[in-house]
Amino acid sequence: MSGIFGSFRIERYDGEERYVSIRVYQGLYALQHRGQVATGIVSIDGQKLKKTAGDGLISSLYTRSQLENAGGINALGHVKYAFENEIDDGSFMPYTYGGGATLAVEGVFLDKDIHPDNIFEAIKEGDSSIVDFLNKTDGAYAFVYMDSKKLVIARDSNGIKNIIRGKLDRDYIVSSESCALDVMDVKEQIAIKPGEVFIVDDSGERSYFLDNRKSKSCIFEKIYISRPDSYIEGISVYESRYNLGQILYSECPTEADIVIGAPDSGTIAALGYANKSGIKYIEGIVKNRYIDRTFIESRQEERENTVSIKLNPIKRNIEGKDIILVDDSVVRGTTMKRTIDILKKAGVKKIHVRVAAPAVKYSCNMSIDTPKEKYLINSERTTEEVRKIIGADSLYYISIKGLKEACRSKNHCMACFDGHYPLIRRK
Ligand code: AMP
Repeated sequence: MSGIFGSFRIERYDGEERYVSIRVYQGLYALQHRGQVATGIVSIDGQKLKKTAGDGLISSLYTRSQLENAGGINALGHVKYAFENEIDDGSFMPYTYGGGATLAVEGVFLDKDIHPDNIFEAIKEGDSSIVDFLNKTDGAYAFVYMDSKKLVIARDSNGIKNIIRGKLDRDYIVSSESCALDVMDVKEQIAIKPGEVFIVDDSGERSYFLDNRKSKSCIFEKIYISRPDSYIEGISVYESRYNLGQILYSECPTEADIVIGAPDSGTIAALGYANKSGIKYIEGIVKNRYIDRTFIESRQEERENTVSIKLNPIKRNIEGKDIILVDDSVVRGTTMKRTIDILKKAGVKKIHVRVAAPAVKYSCNMSIDTPKEKYLINSERTTEEVRKIIGADSLYYISIKGLKEACRSKNHCMACFDGHYPLIRRK
């Protein structure tokens, strides 16, 4: 996963002062949760490109004067997530090309020999060439291409990744998530459809549609990845998470003294659980907000050491109590085991773990960073075996039926839960 944000206009430079890089910076700020290891912004002024990119959070990379001096009429930005075992080739997105072109991609192409450069080459050849190329190229992706005269936005034919567009005066604004369009006060937000290739240039706006279109958007966006203030295809992420908590209680009603959420990803579902059960919701754990994701290294042993720095219990709220602990998902199980350890040390009597996602049993091959199956705590274990390992008094995962109902899902990719991969597996 990663995040893309861009601003594009067709008109020529009119002498008006432009701070388009600042706009893209602000958009990326709203998408920082989608990737914290690297970032880049490319501004375009005719054939001239200016790129600022590097490791880390966007706030640590760009300075105000850099952004102001970047100039340009159009700009494209990217934030990148840390992937386990990834080989860093040192090349930061957005990629740049001759003729003042830039490209940012979120996702993967199944054929490892396909590189974003191939997209650039196909776009150069014209509309039918990019559509033909994408029809032959399986993947889970959203990408944005722009030069001074053309904008291309595309989404894979299964619609696994999301990308959304809107307009601000004469500018087209494009973002991985709606929360960043809200920041810009973009009123009319239009999701690019599965398999849609949207193009704007001097000839106007047009959309092409790839063959074999399906609607299989990633359900994990609703469970964990997207910000709760975002909407995905018209459905509020917050609402989905709240519903998950309510349905968790309906499926497995359990009495306790209090409900707490694993911060921050479990809190909305915890509120839903509390609302449905009538059990009081209370803050039970404080999360240190100053540890960024780059600190939570992707290697297992470092993850274990950092969980306790990241989370600290509020003893007075939980001591001697039977608690419902709600979390969004259990992947490796490391976070949950550590959370239970610290809660027990803080004097909690009983811990009933309620998970607002089904058990993650299958590794994702579509750029959600789930580890190989042998590292997924649920992949070959029963719920009872997992309960014993994490040290909970009881453990319940929401059903797939409950998940669909909560997310008002007609058709999502749920391969991590049910193993039905929309794309042929690689891992
Ligand atoms: P763990 O079970 O220790 O692997 O961590 C699970 C927690 O990490 C979840 O409760 C989420 O907050 C978060 N999480 C869920 N999915 C992912 C993912 N694909 N990559 C990184 N973190 C995730």
